[in-house]
Amino acid sequence: MSASARETMRRGWCPGTLRPMLTGDGLLVRLHPPRNALTPGQLAHVAELASRHGNGQIEISGRGNLQLRGIREDAHPALVDDLLVAGLVDEADGDGPSRLTLTSPLAGRATDELLDAAALADAVERAGRGVTGLPAKFSIVVDGGGALALDGFAADLRLRAVSAETVVFGLPGEFWLGPAAPHEVAMYAAHLLDGFVAASKGSSGKVRRMRDLSSDELTQLATLSGLRPLPAPASRPKPASSGLVAERDDRVALLAGLPFGRTDTAGLRRLGELARNAGLREIRVSPWRGLAFCGLSADAASILQEALRDEGLIVEPNDPRLAVSACAGAPACARGEAATLANAAVLAEAMTPMLAGGLSLHVSGCAKSCAHPGIADLTLVGSGGGYNVIVGGSTGDAAIAHLSLGELVRRLEPGQDIRARLEAAQH
Ligand code: SF4
Repeated sequence: MSASARETMRRGWCPGTLRPMLTGDGLLVRLHPPRNALTPGQLAHVAELASRHGNGQIEISGRGNLQLRGIREDAHPALVDDLLVAGLVDEADGDGPSRLTLTSPLAGRATDELLDAAALADAVERAGRGVTGLPAKFSIVVDGGGALALDGFAADLRLRAVSAETVVFGLPGEFWLGPAAPHEVAMYAAHLLDGFVAASKGSSGKVRRMRDLSSDELTQLATLSGLRPLPAPASRPKPASSGLVAERDDRVALLAGLPFGRTDTAGLRRLGELARNAGLREIRVSPWRGLAFCGLSADAASILQEALRDEGLIVEPNDPRLAVSACAGAPACARGEAATLANAAVLAEAMTPMLAGGLSLHVSGCAKSCAHPGIADLTLVGSGGGYNVIVGGSTGDAAIAHLSLGELVRRLEPGQDIRARLEAAQH
């Protein structure tokens, strides 16, 4: 291990990377590059590390986390060392969140942002790291107020710019507070986090997240923070999470989704090559399970869009695969009881009209539910090579049928009631 890596570890800046999660296919290592940004060269380097230390499977989660799968336990120290040397670790110390804030992939770059959300998130992240006692999954959404709205992402605390001079704070239950000037935001956020930790400590374990506070406790928190209740800001349409987006200085970003949030060493290496050929310097990780290729000319963006389309990436906002979550499954994951990724591609095609109409599909190799912890309109859980079928629930809910892929595709042909068709398979 290099001296710089040892020094960084001594300061404890990488507990999330040092404390990976054990999954069915080995260790899962989550990366937090500074500002969630990588150069094309760093992207290619990550691809190489994924195969050198693991099974080469790479994913981007629904919270914008770049993750390497199947890392061998004996290879983990060397991987950490490599990541530290490459400057790809920016995580908080201690038992709290490795990273608190979630931003749009174009924070600080999009033309329609009301203020610099990247700078705001940096200030809030620094302030949050000074607060001890936050639970590991505590999260803060920092939203610059542009079209790439983050309203669909769950958070303990939500910061939203409503003008260039004003930020408001959202707590669970549409409980909004404010107003704050941008330079006051980190201070108020720290007050709210301190108040939450105090309430959590006095609750005998009942309050683990902000949503666990009663409305009286939220009101008390607001009073202590020095903010006052406000009406909820105007709702915004769901953003287009793939395609071209205008950036400042007449540049363009291309938002591209990885199919089901996944790729492998060869795929990520290829994306690094294409990015380098396009002459761009920055790639951001997107919470819409993809990457944002930033700082392109309009011509270069169009050429790159075509190239990524040819590589099978999602570059249009209406791609049916955007409505589908799928885990690594078999054969990559030893716990997988079905070939989820290959099957999800078949199902996405068969179900295109339904997915375009708003239906969500979750294809999970087993009940662990790595790809999507929540409810989906249709959840399929791998079992003996087929799937347990759950309608309007999650992997832990009761199945209404057990079907093979072929039977699922046949039953999911458009034009009939989905539940009736699936239940009919039992008879
Ligand atoms: S949900 Fe998928 S990736 Fe997770 S353990 Fe089960 S099969 Fe493996």
